[in-house]
Amino acid sequence: MKKHFKPDWFDYFLSAGAFTILLIFCYPLYSDDISLLPVVAAFCLIAAYLLFYRLTRSVRKRNKLIKLEFSQEWRDILNDKVKFYRGLTEKDKSKFEREINIFISEKLITGVETDITDTDRLLVASSAIIPVFAFPNWNYDDLTEVLIYPNSFNHEYQLEGKGRNISGMVGNGVMNGKMILSKKDLHYGFEYPQSKSNVGIHEFVHLIDDSDGSIDGIPGLLMEHSYAQPWLEALQREIEKIRKNKSDINAYGGTSKEEFFPVISEYFFQRPRLFKRKHPKLYKMMNKVFRQDPVSRLKKKVALKTK
Ligand SMILES: [Zn+2]
Repeated sequence: MKKHFKPDWFDYFLSAGAFTILLIFCYPLYSDDISLLPVVAAFCLIAAYLLFYRLTRSVRKRNKLIKLEFSQEWRDILNDKVKFYRGLTEKDKSKFEREINIFISEKLITGVETDITDTDRLLVASSAIIPVFAFPNWNYDDLTEVLIYPNSFNHEYQLEGKGRNISGMVGNGVMNGKMILSKKDLHYGFEYPQSKSNVGIHEFVHLIDDSDGSIDGIPGLLMEHSYAQPWLEALQREIEKIRKNKSDINAYGGTSKEEFFPVISEYFFQRPRLFKRKHPKLYKMMNKVFRQDPVSRLKKKVALKTK
């Protein structure tokens, strides 16, 4: 049977390299008696294979995970809460479910001073999958755990006291590898898809931006180099408009270029039609960045329904 996930070239390269180095290292063992070469080579091959086996453990795990049944109960929750999922074709829905299974199996989702339900887990995973839906092998390598707080919090991660206006953040320092989301705000983004806000998508887009090594508002790994300059120019122009109160983009997007990208990503996925109408050029760019065209996807879905 064809495997969905395959080892990447780096796994092969490293294992082949290990085999060659071992064989060279063992040269004294067969230099005087060349008939020993096949035996030594066999041992080196076994060692290289063990390394390959270790390196590709997650690939095998993922191939097992995608065979897991997706429960009807979870499907109902997605249908009820996630507009993006409802807009997918049956084939893409299965793909979305596979990605959800993988995310939930690989990442810890922990409640802090709150209980976690399957709905919470599915909303976190959906926030992660929506922006990278066209990148099926996306791993969020640097993320190990998502902490769910009951409500917004302050810079000291406190749920009480002053300045509790943060609804999500990507941790750094001691919080490296962790993301914090306020449960209330996470739900709001999905329960009110007509809003231009979705804190889950916002924080995962920060991680996508960070995947090229820096959170700078330019998603280097998703964006072809030639787009970076036009992107920066469009971003600067729009940030100016936001600051002059002449844009319908959430004012938070005008605070910095690092915040602009996640803020317009929320808008792009929550209200694609409106975003396209109001910001056709930015829509085109986002289209290329995420390799998704949510407006034509919705049109196709409507056409399929009316057939
Ligand atoms: Zn942010």
